[in-house]
Amino acid sequence: MIMKAEKFYSLSDLWKNIKKLPQKRKYICGGTDIAVSLKYGSLDIDCLIDISDVKELSLIKKEKNHVFIGAGVKISEFEKNEIIKKCVPALYKSVRYYASPTIRNIATLGGNLANASPCADGVLALLASRAKVILNLYGKKRVLEIKDVFIGPKKTSIKKDELIEGFLVPIWSHKSVFLKSIPRKIFGISKAGLCVCADIKNGSVRDISISASSVGPVVLRCLKTETFLKGKEINDKTVEESYKIIKTEVSPINDHRSVAEYRKEIIGVFLKRALSSLK
Ligand SMILES: Cc1cc2nc3c(=O)[nH]c(=O)nc-3n(C[C@H](O)[C@H](O)[C@H](O)COP(=O)(O)OP(=O)(O)OC[C@H]3O[C@@H](n4cnc5c(N)ncnc54)[C@H](O)[C@@H]3O)c2cc1C
Repeated sequence: MIMKAEKFYSLSDLWKNIKKLPQKRKYICGGTDIAVSLKYGSLDIDCLIDISDVKELSLIKKEKNHVFIGAGVKISEFEKNEIIKKCVPALYKSVRYYASPTIRNIATLGGNLANASPCADGVLALLASRAKVILNLYGKKRVLEIKDVFIGPKKTSIKKDELIEGFLVPIWSHKSVFLKSIPRKIFGISKAGLCVCADIKNGSVRDISISASSVGPVVLRCLKTETFLKGKEINDKTVEESYKIIKTEVSPINDHRSVAEYRKEIIGVFLKRALSSLK
């Protein structure tokens, strides 16, 4: 049973008081993942630290070479924000696939990363956008590649009390495609997902990054496929070859949502669709 819940409105206040809280403590932001764990009794904690109104976590700022996105920005905000629409199109496009409007209005990107699910839609968009994550522990910051946060499904290298402060997303010339296979017509956890960000000029790939979800223990970058496509003209031959390569990069499993064979195939098909719409 949770004995205590404490709410903070600024980072300075959080760092000043956090060590006085009960030892078994955990952050809560939107609460959409935590609520499920609490319901099923899989959390052993004495204290929830509510960071949903910490002001530094709710910012979206455009700087010279990157966009800063606070970990506590609500998912629905990405669809309304002009900076995100223009500079981080993958995140903008991911919103309509992300749960239901009710969940989107409270869920956050920080929670999506910390939860480390292989199906996380926000992480899928961030990885293809080449974002880095800013972690903050008692005021000391470190910046990590998103891939370095994951140890395995639902496991991260984030330390006790370490806070995801936000994300740094580089500004680079690209368009993006976000595709997700779901069990129902709208909403739902992904059977498989693919996000492609690419700079394509006159039908040739100048730069590209590709991420895939629900087809491995964590959301992953498809580096072999990216390397193959860089510098190539998009034609029937390169599309067919990249379709074969990407299927060797994923390692899906059978579970209650789908089967490995379908997941592998749909990732290849999604890549074909993405390339033809981007060229
Ligand atoms: C009905 C339903 C549908 C869903 N559909 C989708 C979907 O379509 N796609 C999808 O990707 N996800 C989906 N989810 C999962 C969930 O909504 C997302 O993972 C969401 O982004 C989590 O954010 P949150 O703020 O609610 O996290 P919370 O529940 O508040 O926290 C989740 C975890 O992150 C930690 N945490 C939160 N913020 C921080 C921070 N800033 N720093 C450090 N740790 C932090 C918490 O301690 C906790 O361990 C769904 C969930 C539900 C209940």
